[in-house]
Amino acid sequence: MNKIQLLPDNLINQIAAGEVVERPASVVKELLENSIDAGAKRIIVEVQEGGMQLLKITDDGSGMSREDAELSLARHATSKIATIEDLQAIKTMGFRGEALASIASVSRFTMRTKLAADSAGTEIVLEGGKILRNGPIGIPTGTEIEVRELFFNTPARLKFMKSAATEYQNVVDAVVDAALAFPEIAFKLVENEGRIALDLPATADPLVRMRGVLGKGIAEEMLEIFYGGVNLKMTGYIGKPSLSRSNRNMQFFFVNNRPIASHVLSYAVKQAYHSLLPKERYPVFVVKFELEPSMVDVNCHPRKTEVKFKDEREIYRVLNSACAKVLEQAVIMPKFESDTPVNYYQEKSAQGITEVSKPAAVQEALEFFSAMSGEKVSVGVSESNQAAETMEKQIAAIPDVSVEMEMTVLAQLSNAFILCQRGEDLVIIDQHAAHERVRYNKLMAEAESEEKLIQPLLVPINIEVSAQDQSILDANKDLLEEIGLELEHFGGNTFSLKAVPAYLAKNNLEKVLLGMIDDLRNFESLKGNKGDLYGRKEKVLTYLACRSAVKFGDSLSMEEMRALVDQLREADWGRSTCPHGRPTMIVLPKDELWGRFGRKYTGFFEKEKFGGVNC
Ligand code: ADP
Ligand code: MG
Repeated sequence: MNKIQLLPDNLINQIAAGEVVERPASVVKELLENSIDAGAKRIIVEVQEGGMQLLKITDDGSGMSREDAELSLARHATSKIATIEDLQAIKTMGFRGEALASIASVSRFTMRTKLAADSAGTEIVLEGGKILRNGPIGIPTGTEIEVRELFFNTPARLKFMKSAATEYQNVVDAVVDAALAFPEIAFKLVENEGRIALDLPATADPLVRMRGVLGKGIAEEMLEIFYGGVNLKMTGYIGKPSLSRSNRNMQFFFVNNRPIASHVLSYAVKQAYHSLLPKERYPVFVVKFELEPSMVDVNCHPRKTEVKFKDEREIYRVLNSACAKVLEQAVIMPKFESDTPVNYYQEKSAQGITEVSKPAAVQEALEFFSAMSGEKVSVGVSESNQAAETMEKQIAAIPDVSVEMEMTVLAQLSNAFILCQRGEDLVIIDQHAAHERVRYNKLMAEAESEEKLIQPLLVPINIEVSAQDQSILDANKDLLEEIGLELEHFGGNTFSLKAVPAYLAKNNLEKVLLGMIDDLRNFESLKGNKGDLYGRKEKVLTYLACRSAVKFGDSLSMEEMRALVDQLREADWGRSTCPHGRPTMIVLPKDELWGRFGRKYTGFFEKEKFGGVNC
């Protein structure tokens, strides 16, 4: 008997599903693409349990005849391409004709569809790819697809699913991508029990759509970019530097309306900000390219999330220079001037929040030297080995705290460091790191106790967040409450902040909340952190401690400095690092101090004994 045999269709579909259908969000992406290709003007997405229980997409597009509906479920059945030439110039979102067959093979699947010209519609019900029912049904023109219990028959795949909250976030991302690409289509996203997460009316104005999806705060701080070439058109918006994020989640590229990820192009934007953004901050943008379909290959990724450009350098150049130009006009670009005082920390922003960054002059000088020497000169503090080594040395130099000694505050240096005398050693305290440590310990203790100082807000603050951020807030509601942040989901993407921990009340609460969401998202996306509730709490508290602590740039009175030093002594004296692991203080021991002046320590300096200054 032969060993080789042809696989049955259903198994082929399940294998294909392994590539196309990775998780609920990939189903949503494929079904949305189909609705868009069918000319829908209105699309509704319903989700239960992050899409694991149910995904339902309803559109008012062309619909299908009974024959087409049956065919659409067969593998490699498509109305979108017919020849090899078509494949080289794809104008639709879909083209492989395998999505429906794949999805139906790994779920309990129902399709209801009706052409405008037909009086009755068609309903086809499948289970694991096998047809259970195929008959007429009365529905309005359009198509409705229900996917229940995704991967019910492929347990291995089911195991890879994350929590419902995480899967839901990915679904939101897929809807957001489509909504940003097609403002002229109305989208609605309905979550468990009918909660409306997104309700976006059709609009001709991309800014209106951006506001609906990303929130008012972002939409109002965007700068428009444009390029109109013969083969390449580019339209879009990039965020002012103040909108920057700690990850790339607010970066959207579309190529012929197809959402794509591209590190190269993302870098083209980031590079245009130069020193306006610290190394680890990422700009926010929504940029759309329109290219001759033959100038781009969209058939190079199973889930179509990447494309290949014929001329990527040209696109890089166009994008980079458009961004640089608009930023130059909108923001006063820091220039390298020798008389600019070198201040390693940006001024306090209007919100009173200090972002640690290198000044333009230093950054540019470093870049200049690295270009000259052909060597990479590191400008990232935490990334260079040298910095890490220095930090290690500093930590090693942390005073022996077992001996309690009086600390006398001498002065504040650069609105950043507190200089103290301890015995005859010089102790230099980083005011932000120290206060952060003090705050963190206090917050941790507070969060774990029943007594919290919570300040109700007289006038609740309404905060609009992006659709993605919304799901993070929803998923972390309990945690935030435990900490004292009382948030109410107002519907849509608006949250109402009703109470905050008292220590936060002075801050720009919107900024604090958005930053916290960023940190939470970064944390969750790290491998192994899923479901780590304690870790999440630690993350949030670290963030809040940082935000509520005194900053570099805050001028402190002697009294304030003394209070801080006292608090630091009480708070975990032994640890001497801030929650981020940076040292809170360094010590210049007397021997070293004297040694640096070429002297040997001789004991406390008494004029009578030595008779004045010795040369
Ligand atoms: P592809 O989109 O690559 O053609 P699919 O498996 O996603 O492959 O869909 C197969 C075919 O079914 C499509 O080519 C289209 O003709 C039809 N179809 C799918 N979804 C819809 C829809 N929502 N409305 C109308 N026709 C649809
Ligand atoms: Mg398709």
